[in-house]
Amino acid sequence: MITEEAVRQRTRAAVDEFGHLDDYGLRGALFDAGLALVHFPEGKGGLGVSPQLQTTVEATIRAAGRDINPFAVNPIGVGMGMPTVLTYGTEAHHAKHLRPMYTGEDIWCQMFSEPTHGSDVAGLASRAVRDGDEWVVNGQKVWTSLAHYASYGMLLVRTNADVPKHKGLSYFILDMRSPGIEIRPLFQMTGDAEFNEIFFTDLRVPHSNLLGEVGDGWRVATTTLMNERVALGGSTAPRGAGLIKSLVDLWEQRAPSLGDTERRATRDRVSRLWIEAEILRLTTLRARANSTVGNPGPEGSVGKLASAELNQRIYAAIIDLMGAEAMLHEPGYPLVRHERGEGAADASLSGRFLRSRANTIEGGTSEIMRNILGERVLGLPGDIRVDKAVPWKDIPG
Ligand SMILES: Cc1cc2nc3c(=O)[nH]c(=O)nc-3n(C[C@H](O)[C@H](O)[C@H](O)COP(=O)(O)OP(=O)(O)OC[C@H]3O[C@@H](n4cnc5c(N)ncnc54)[C@H](O)[C@@H]3O)c2cc1C
Repeated sequence: MITEEAVRQRTRAAVDEFGHLDDYGLRGALFDAGLALVHFPEGKGGLGVSPQLQTTVEATIRAAGRDINPFAVNPIGVGMGMPTVLTYGTEAHHAKHLRPMYTGEDIWCQMFSEPTHGSDVAGLASRAVRDGDEWVVNGQKVWTSLAHYASYGMLLVRTNADVPKHKGLSYFILDMRSPGIEIRPLFQMTGDAEFNEIFFTDLRVPHSNLLGEVGDGWRVATTTLMNERVALGGSTAPRGAGLIKSLVDLWEQRAPSLGDTERRATRDRVSRLWIEAEILRLTTLRARANSTVGNPGPEGSVGKLASAELNQRIYAAIIDLMGAEAMLHEPGYPLVRHERGEGAADASLSGRFLRSRANTIEGGTSEIMRNILGERVLGLPGDIRVDKAVPWKDIPG
C-alpha cells in the first residue's frame, strides 16, 4: 500500500529532479510519476490511491515554492476531460490525450449547450449523420468557454431523432482545428469574451473519436457534468486563503476608517462568511476523499451550489466594503478576447464581482443543482418531465 509519506517523498523527489523545468515540463514529470491525479490508474497520471492524497501532493509542491495549478491552465480539460476520456476512451485515446491535457499543452473545451438547450441539454438539436468511417455534423453550440484557443473539445450531438431525447445522443472528441467549424466571440459584462458561439457546417468527425457507444452519449455526458460540478465546487486551497482572504484583507484595511457601529457590523458579516468558507473547504476535502475515478456521485452538486452562492455573497460583501469606489472602472470599456495564458480582462475586485454573477449559471444553474439534490440526494419527488418518453422528433420545438 502507498502511504501518505510515500506520496510526499515521491513528490519531493519529482520536484527536486524536475524543478528546473517550466510549468509545462514539471506537470509532465508529475504525470509520469503518477502524481497528476493520484486516484487515476498507474501509467495514466495516477497511482491508484485515494484522491485525498492529492492534497499532500499539492501541499508538497507549494512548500517547494512552485505553483503549477493545472486546473487554472486547462480547467475543462483537467476537471472534466480527463475523467471522461479515462472512463469511456480507448487505450489509444488515453495514450494520446491524458498527458497533454494535464500539462496544458492541449487545451480542451466542452460543447454541450445550444441556444435553445442549456439546462435541458439532453434535448439538444445539433445532428450527426454517419458516412462510412466518419460522422457529418451540422448545428450550433453556444457559451463554449475557451473554444477560441482549444485544441480539442467534447462534443455532444444527436445521432438518432426517432428515440426519446436521452437515448439518441452520441459523444465525440472533436479536433477543434477541423474544417467546418466557425467560432465567434460572445462578450460578457466583464468586457471579456471568455466564451463563444460555434457553428458546424458539414464538419467531419472520425468514428474512432467516439467516446462510449453510439446512442450512449447521455451517460458519457453525465460523467462530464458530474465532474464539472466537483471541479467547480469549492477550493481545497489552505484555510483562509483565496477569495475569503481578499475580503479579510480588505476589511483590515478599511476597518480603521469605519465608524464603531459599522465596524462591528461588518466584522460580524466577514466572520460569518469566513466560517462558511471554512465549512465549504472542509466539505470539499471530505467529498474529495470519497470520490471515485470517473463518476462522482450527485454530492458534487452540493459543493457546486454552495460555492457558487458563497462566492457571490463574499463578492457582495467586498463591493459593500469598497463603497462608491467599487463603481469606478478604468476609462473606456475595452472588449477583450483573452488568449491562452492571459488573465481576465478586468481582474480587479469589482471586475471579479461582475464575473461572479456567472457562478450560479455555469456548470448548471443553482435551480438545477437544487433539483439534483432534491431528487438524487434527498429522495424528494422528481421534477415534471413530460417529454421523457417521447421520440425527440415529436417534441414540439
Ligand atoms: C460563464 C459561463 C460559461 C459557460 N461555459 C460553457 C461551456 O464551456 N460549455 C457549455 O456547453 N456550456 C457552457 N455554459 C452554459 C451553461 O451550462 C448554461 O448557461 C446553463 O446550463 C443554463 O442554460 P441556459 O443558459 O440555456 O438557461 P436555461 O436553461 O434557459 O434556464 C433559464 C432559467 O430557467 C431555470 N430553469 C431551467 N430549467 C429548470 C428546471 N427544470 N427547474 C427549475 N428551473 C429551471 C434556470 O435555472 C434559469 O434560471 C456556460 C455558461 C456561463 C455563464
